[in-house]
Amino acid sequence: MKKVIILFSVVLFIACNKQPEKKVEVVSEVVKEEISKPEDNFGIVIHGGAGTILKKNMTPEKEAAYKAKLEEAVKVGHAILKNGGTSLEAVEKTINMLENSPLFNAGKGAVFTNQRTNELDASIMDGSNLNAGAVAGVKTVKNPINLAREVMLNSPHVLLSGSGAELFAKERNLEIVDPAYFFTEDRMKSLERVKEKLKNKEANKTTAFYDPIIKDAKFGTVGCAALDKHGNLAAGTSTGGMTNKKWNRIGDSPIIGAGTYANNATCAVSSTGWGEYFIRAMVAHDISALMEYKGVSLQQAAHEVIQKKLTALGGTGGIVAIDNQGNVTMEFNTAGMYRASMNAKDELNIGIYKK
Ligand code: ASP
Repeated sequence: MKKVIILFSVVLFIACNKQPEKKVEVVSEVVKEEISKPEDNFGIVIHGGAGTILKKNMTPEKEAAYKAKLEEAVKVGHAILKNGGTSLEAVEKTINMLENSPLFNAGKGAVFTNQRTNELDASIMDGSNLNAGAVAGVKTVKNPINLAREVMLNSPHVLLSGSGAELFAKERNLEIVDPAYFFTEDRMKSLERVKEKLKNKEANKTTAFYDPIIKDAKFGTVGCAALDKHGNLAAGTSTGGMTNKKWNRIGDSPIIGAGTYANNATCAVSSTGWGEYFIRAMVAHDISALMEYKGVSLQQAAHEVIQKKLTALGGTGGIVAIDNQGNVTMEFNTAGMYRASMNAKDELNIGIYKK
């Protein structure tokens, strides 16, 4: 009898002590399941340029037009992501919407060079394999971001420029337009204003060359960063560059690491602002590198690079970025930045001015 009681107690003891173990197991399964369910975790963020964007200079109609276009564009990319599409596709299609709008300095609506031409730059990057494509100084390609993607996927190169890039665009059957397609009255007036201010000024060799442009500036470049349900990040940027640019000047937008960067290990970034500074500070890659090497959050990294490093150099502008967990940041050191984001919960966020 004594033996039976002892045996019974041992069985009871084991049974009671098994319970918590089982609970732990169940909890860890739930955690595991959450991590391996990337469909809960996608998102998109866009910008339409940063600069001296002040409410006092904006009409209600203009503000509404910008907001409507930002919303339309971010929703295009969001729908692609929601349906299981890739971040690359979302980035490309979203940027196309902005390139086709005269409101932004990219595609239709690009700013004018000193020679009254439009020279367009763009780049795109795939965070899953660090593949990238870019074009600079194209004059007849309707959607430069599409050409950047073609360079990435169907050429042995990363960056093409000028007439060679245009030849490649024709070979890849991209839409070619007459340069006149890019003309807008608004951008021509900006060029005339800037030229007038620079008249009789020996400003070519110094940053004074950019003074009136920066003061006039709504940079207006467009960009997008996205995380898809498969856990892949991508980023892209498209621009007409800076008003009155000379000598086939190329800004940061087609420079991988400056204007655009994406790495599944960290984040995807698109920049907008005074390109020369973004190149010198390698802004987009620097944000990713801070996360990779120092383990800081996306928000901390973006704040450090834009508010400290770029600002100390004298550069102006901002970035939009998303990390591999779907966290979004929109950091800028100018009065405003056209921006929007949308997450997996369909939450939409649109902004223009500094908060
Ligand atoms: N970053 C662009 C450039 O320097 C300009 C812009 O962002 O609007 O070409």
